[in-house]
Amino acid sequence: MEEHFSKSPLAGQAGVERLLKPFALELKQGCLDKAVAGGLEAYVLRWAPELGLKFVGYAGKDSDSRGQVVAEALSWIKGIEQRTQGGGLRARPRAEDALVQTRKPPPSSFVATPKASSRFLEDKDLVKATSVPALLPSDPVTRLSALGPKRAAAFHGLGIHTLADLLLYTPRDWQDRSRMKTISQVVDGEIATVQARVLSSVNIRTRGHLIITEVAVHDPTGTLSVTYFNQPFQQRRFTAGSLVVLSAKVQKRGRRWQMQNPEAEVLPEGGEEALVHTGRVVPLYSLNKEISQRVFRAAVWRSLAALKGLADPLPAAMIRGQGLMPLAEALGLMHFPPGPVPESIEPARRRMAFQELFLMSLALVQKKHREQEAHAPVLAGGKLVHGLLKGLPFELTVAQRRVWKELQADLGRSIPMRRLIQGDVGAGKTVLAALCLAAAVGEGWQGALMAPTEILADQHLKTLRRILEPLGVEVLSLTQAQKGKGRREVMEHLASGRPLVAVGTQALIQHGVDFGHLGLVVVDEQHRFGVLQRLTLSKKARDEGGTSEPHSLVMTATPIPRTLAMTFYGDLDVSVLDGLPPGRSPVHTRWVREDDLGEVWEGVRQEVAQGRQAYVVVPLVDESDKSEWKAATKRVEDLRTEVFPDLAVDLLHGRLKPEEKEAVMAAFSSGRTQILCATTVVEVGVDVANASVMVIEDADRFGLAQLHQLRGRVGRGAAQSYCFLVGDPKTDEGRQRLEIMASTNDGFVIAEEDLRLRGHGEILGTRQSGLPELRHADFSKDQQLVLDARQAADALIREDPLLVQAEHQALNAAVKAGFGAKLELGNVG
Ligand code: ADP
Ligand code: MG
Repeated sequence: MEEHFSKSPLAGQAGVERLLKPFALELKQGCLDKAVAGGLEAYVLRWAPELGLKFVGYAGKDSDSRGQVVAEALSWIKGIEQRTQGGGLRARPRAEDALVQTRKPPPSSFVATPKASSRFLEDKDLVKATSVPALLPSDPVTRLSALGPKRAAAFHGLGIHTLADLLLYTPRDWQDRSRMKTISQVVDGEIATVQARVLSSVNIRTRGHLIITEVAVHDPTGTLSVTYFNQPFQQRRFTAGSLVVLSAKVQKRGRRWQMQNPEAEVLPEGGEEALVHTGRVVPLYSLNKEISQRVFRAAVWRSLAALKGLADPLPAAMIRGQGLMPLAEALGLMHFPPGPVPESIEPARRRMAFQELFLMSLALVQKKHREQEAHAPVLAGGKLVHGLLKGLPFELTVAQRRVWKELQADLGRSIPMRRLIQGDVGAGKTVLAALCLAAAVGEGWQGALMAPTEILADQHLKTLRRILEPLGVEVLSLTQAQKGKGRREVMEHLASGRPLVAVGTQALIQHGVDFGHLGLVVVDEQHRFGVLQRLTLSKKARDEGGTSEPHSLVMTATPIPRTLAMTFYGDLDVSVLDGLPPGRSPVHTRWVREDDLGEVWEGVRQEVAQGRQAYVVVPLVDESDKSEWKAATKRVEDLRTEVFPDLAVDLLHGRLKPEEKEAVMAAFSSGRTQILCATTVVEVGVDVANASVMVIEDADRFGLAQLHQLRGRVGRGAAQSYCFLVGDPKTDEGRQRLEIMASTNDGFVIAEEDLRLRGHGEILGTRQSGLPELRHADFSKDQQLVLDARQAADALIREDPLLVQAEHQALNAAVKAGFGAKLELGNVG
């Protein structure tokens, strides 16, 4: 506590001290209201609004009443000084500290010393005269003074309506203004924060239509020039004489110091507000154009008084048991850290991270629990399954047998299966899907398999027809491309409810597609779909009058770290299909510089000479980008006419019509094409065992998961396969990616590295996952926390599945608010 106060930004700032002298002078002069220019009323209002009411109409009063007012004000200030001293906070406390705390307790006062603040608030004398009813978290933000309708609208734009919303809007970053440098202390190349006064600010228009704002600022130790490009409004922000905080990389240009496009804030002059924005670690928020950091920060500061009324969604016992910080305390720390970040806010971050993870886990566990109450058909499959197993050209691997057992157990129960198979590229997931589909049809139900691309759907269609049709199973296809009569017919078959297998793309979940008797849904390459799409397909059967829900099986070849799987796929049981079918040797991967492309083409030639085939992935990341498109087409022409004029080279890309794609794939599958140039459309699922070389140009532009998927297209046959990653990475991360790829074939290792390099947000992608973004949790750091949160959620749902107990009300509300619509928790109960 002492420590905090000694660091307090309140120290050394002008405040009430500005009042002591004028008050003394006023008394000495016989209360003539001449002590300050403009009169005491205005002066007090400016520097100590708390005392303002007392001074209303001061000029019109007689000298006796004036004397009384001033004396009361003085004794109030002194009284607070004494109490502060009594509290042992500091040898010689300053009056302004007390005043500020009286009005709005700084976060420290409820973090470390809740009593101190309430003591001040209970103060009977002057405070009462001006105090307004206590702020409540449910109060609208407009209750904060200085928040007129226009600003309030801007807050609403951020989704902030109440003080609770405001308090829960945690900073995106912090700036340490307690250790600001003077201009003379800055070092060339460092990111520094300085406080300085504006000398001048002008807009200069260059001939190239660029507007440059040149701002000169100074402090007692030197001057600094600040430049903004094409932000003419900046010029108006920097009025000469105003005090600003600037933060950016400092560069020495000749003898002058310079900053470009610094993050800047104009500071208030003195008074309480200054204490919020300077001399401390200040929060920075994600804001829109209408609100400045300063306005927002001041609003948060003023709303802190409502913190203690904020309900903590976590039950008290859990907070204690997990060693967490209570919500109010955590938020107080996050908004106004008492010391350097991140150290000083780590306990707060941990608390918020736990809450996020816990709520998400709770939603998923609850969903899972609820689903166990639903009915599903028992799918044993019998003869069809046996027939399928007998007809396979290979034996199932140990891993495949283990996972098939797990699947059989699930399908044999009358509650819906919710299972995820994580198996590396080429691990042999398709046959497991086929077994499940056979089990469904064998019991007279329909099965559906959804794939993310037409190419993959088409491939699955062929595979399934090959192994299921000999057993008498009807396999139909439904894709976007199908139109007219054919499509109508397929839809009629699906609706008829007769046992069959449907393979398709997202077309399967489109409106108007009805399944009459759907017993099983398989979603392949889940990473391409979100939780929401997964839900839609299984929901179809239910909505359409079925009394039972289909089983669902999700398959992904993008292994994701365990902690992520627990949250992202937290409603699913996970089977890991490890190991590859026999006879495969790991792909040899080499990272090659562009200068050595010649060697790569030589390698390709050698393989082709032995009757093998090759993929060349051309660097076309965005197919809609015209210039990229041109470059890629040119590249393919070069390969055709100059590098491999003697070989059959073809091109596969996303803009081809479905029939064209099919023709290109057919030519490659049959071996007529030797080299397939392709965009990343080959990434998913393409399976040509004779292809043994994969060349990826500009490989550093792709992410790890994508590279792993691409590489998975080779190494599918018995021959040794090769992957050449061609690239001269421009970033350190790009270099690391290529090194990782060259060092391992293990998808799980790659996934962990991916998490480390990119963070979970990028990997899951909120839009794709359908789940809210996690703001505080970090999956590569918080593995234990993820496990703890999951365990706590499991335990809680076991005890109170519907969260109906009184102490779980706040939790229930928080889960519903965050996830209800997304995970259909609204239907609970
Ligand atoms: P993925 O898990 O990437 O979807 P696939 O199911 O496409 O993998 O299987 C890759 C290849 O391995 C296919 O050609 C498939 O026929 C073959 N395969 C699957 N299981 C086995 C096995 N047990 N033994 C031999 N080959 C297998
Ligand atoms: Mg597959």
